Amino acid sequence: MKRESIDIAIVGAGPAGIAACLEAVRLGLSPLLVSEGPVGGLVHAARRLDNLPGYPGGISGSEWARACEIQLSEARIPRLMSKVLAVAGKEKDFLITTSREIVSAHAVVLAVGTRPRPFPVALPHGPFIRRDAAGLPSRLEGLRAAVVGSGEAAVDTALNLADRGAAVTLLSRAEAPRACAALLGELSTSEVRVLAGTAVCRAAEDAGTVRLLQEDGGEWTGNLAVFCIGRESRIDEIRLDCPPGTRGILTAGDMNRTTDRYVLPAMADGRAAAFSSFISITREA
Ligand SMILES: Cc1cc2nc3c(=O)[nH]c(=O)nc-3n(C[C@H](O)[C@H](O)[C@H](O)COP(=O)(O)OP(=O)(O)OC[C@H]3O[C@@H](n4cnc5c(N)ncnc54)[C@H](O)[C@@H]3O)c2cc1C
Repeated sequence: MKRESIDIAIVGAGPAGIAACLEAVRLGLSPLLVSEGPVGGLVHAARRLDNLPGYPGGISGSEWARACEIQLSEARIPRLMSKVLAVAGKEKDFLITTSREIVSAHAVVLAVGTRPRPFPVALPHGPFIRRDAAGLPSRLEGLRAAVVGSGEAAVDTALNLADRGAAVTLLSRAEAPRACAALLGELSTSEVRVLAGTAVCRAAEDAGTVRLLQEDGGEWTGNLAVFCIGRESRIDEIRLDCPPGTRGILTAGDMNRTTDRYVLPAMADGRAAAFSSFISITREA
C-alpha cells in the first residue's frame, strides 16, 4: 500500500521526534510520525525527569510521555506504528519503506535514538534479565533485583526498582557510580546496596532465579537483573541509499550524540531538523 506524498516523515516518537512533529505543524507542514515504539521513546525507562523546566519536583518519564501523547493528538498528527526499514531518494521525494507500507515524503527526519550496547557475552533472553526498566510491573515487593552499571541510567534504574519495593543491589564496575549530584544524593539515602568495583562477567537464568557471576569469583543471586551498561545509535538499522546530509534528510536526538543524551538537547535537535526541512521544502517548491 502506498500513501499520497506527505511533506515530512518523522521517524521515531521519542523527544526528538515529538519536537520535530510539533514544530513541523507550527510551520504549516503536514507531518507523518512513524515509530515502532510508543510516544515518549526512552523516557519510559526514566524514573523521574528532573531537568525539564516547568515541572517543579520533576515528572516521571511515563507521565511526561502521556502529556506528549495528548499534545500530538490535539495537533492531529497522523501516526503510523511501524518500523522503518529503508529510506531511498526518488527524484525530488524520499521513499520510506516500513514494515507495513511505503510512504513518500518531501523530507525525512530520522530520530531513532539508541539501543542498549551489547554485553561482552550473550545475555539470556527472558523477562528476568532486562536492559531497562520500561514495562516492569509497578510493584516489585519481595523481589531481589540487581542493576549492573555505573552511570546515570544505572543509578536512576536502581532507584526506580527500589521505589517499586524491590531489594536492590547496584553492581558498579567503577569504584563509585557516576551520576548527577541530585541522583547520587538520593542514592546515598536510599535502601539501594552499592557494590562498587564489582565486574559482572556472565549472567544465567533458571526457572526465575538469576545468577550474576563476577570476575573476582563472587556471585549475586536474585529474581531480576537490569543491565544498564551504555547505549549506541540505531541508525545502522535503517538501509539508507542517501546518507544523512543529503538535502531533505535530517537526523536528530540521541542517535547523533555520544554524550549529552538528554531530553532537552534531543528536543532542540528535533525542532531544528523540522525547521531545516521547512527551508528545504519551501526552496524546492
Ligand atoms: C534510565 C534513564 C533515565 C533517564 N533520565 C533522564 C532525565 O532525567 N533527564 C533527561 O533529560 N534525560 C533522561 N534520560 C535520557 C532520555 O530518555 C533520552 O535522552 C531521550 O529519550 C532521547 O530522545 P530521542 O528522541 O533522541 O530518542 P528515543 O527516546 O530513544 O526515541 C527513539 C524512538 O525511535 C523509535 N525507533 C527506533 N528505530 C526505529 C525504526 N527503525 N523505525 C521506527 N521507529 C524507530 C523508537 O521506538 C523510539 O520511539 C534517561 C534515559 C534513561 C535510559
